[in-house]
Amino acid sequence: MNLSTVPIIDQHAHNLLRPEHARTFAYPSAFTEGYAAEVVTRHAQETIFFRRSMREIAGILGCEPNLAAILEARERLGFEEVVRRCFEAAGFQSILLDDGFMPDQAMPTAWHNRFVRTYRLLRVEFLAERLIAETPTWPAFEEAFRAALQDPGPEVVGFKTIVAYRTGLAVEAPDPEAARSAFEAMRQQVEQGERLRLAHKPLNDWVVWCTLEAAARQGRPVQFHTGFGDPDLDLRWANPLHLRPLLEHPGFQRVPFVLLHASYPYTREAGYLAAVYPHVYTDLGLAIPFLSRSGMAFVVRAFLELAPISKILFSTDAHLIPELFYLGARWGRRILGEVLEATVHDGDLTAAEAEAAAEAILYRNAQTLYRL
Ligand SMILES: [Zn+2]
Repeated sequence: MNLSTVPIIDQHAHNLLRPEHARTFAYPSAFTEGYAAEVVTRHAQETIFFRRSMREIAGILGCEPNLAAILEARERLGFEEVVRRCFEAAGFQSILLDDGFMPDQAMPTAWHNRFVRTYRLLRVEFLAERLIAETPTWPAFEEAFRAALQDPGPEVVGFKTIVAYRTGLAVEAPDPEAARSAFEAMRQQVEQGERLRLAHKPLNDWVVWCTLEAAARQGRPVQFHTGFGDPDLDLRWANPLHLRPLLEHPGFQRVPFVLLHASYPYTREAGYLAAVYPHVYTDLGLAIPFLSRSGMAFVVRAFLELAPISKILFSTDAHLIPELFYLGARWGRRILGEVLEATVHDGDLTAAEAEAAAEAILYRNAQTLYRL
């Protein structure tokens, strides 16, 4: 099945790195979730993903498929031309950017509109950290945080939480006194000029809870980081099954929960949740394009085993460099085409149903969910 003309809504990705920062940054680090020096300089280039990507990127840049030639071509073409080529080849209808990742080193969200229609996802932990730094008292912080969620700006189409990274997905009903003392501890860090990192369970849980309350009022989706990521994460607490109390909570039934990154390796768990809860959605990002070819096919097949087609979303989780947008789009279309073709061969779907499924997964489901 050839899906090359089907548009894509990339429902979760991140802003590109500014060219002045890109110069000081090791290119292979965009191809690994690890950040230890030995991983970046040595092992990252030994993955199937890296090897396959070198050939694909060389095609787009018109150079030999090796790291040195790619770096030389990027320098020769210039940042904007590389971005233009990657976005043009990706064939996006629009992209949704979580701009809370390395915000001081990334291009502004609106800048990406030059290449593709761009919407914003509000990363709530980043918002909370900023407001804690600016707001001396708990009541003032509480009011400012709730107000920011209530009116996040016209370009914001969803919220994003990285609580999986900080204190885990087993979010509990907030204890306001404990949240307040965590806030006060962080305020002391502000006074001492320390860098803030929101990683106090009572306060992180409070932040997620307030977000879900706001999302319930607005019917706005909340994206949860689930599954693999960089080693800042304790993968045990990134299993989406920990979300059960939130998914069962009567106040949050109107909140679409979007489980990012195929929840890999908890992919079947995510597919199950999407099958039984009306308000749970799954996403293919990061798993595509980071896994091997058979790994990418596995995540698509694992979702299709049980999850409704209407609950599967597509994203690249591209970050730092434009090539990842291109790679995600290219492999997303190709793998989805192959797996859906197999469902026709198996007699699971008709050819027309498989085509409709590809459109649903690549853009229609996101269009409906985010009201784009
Ligand atoms: Zn992401």
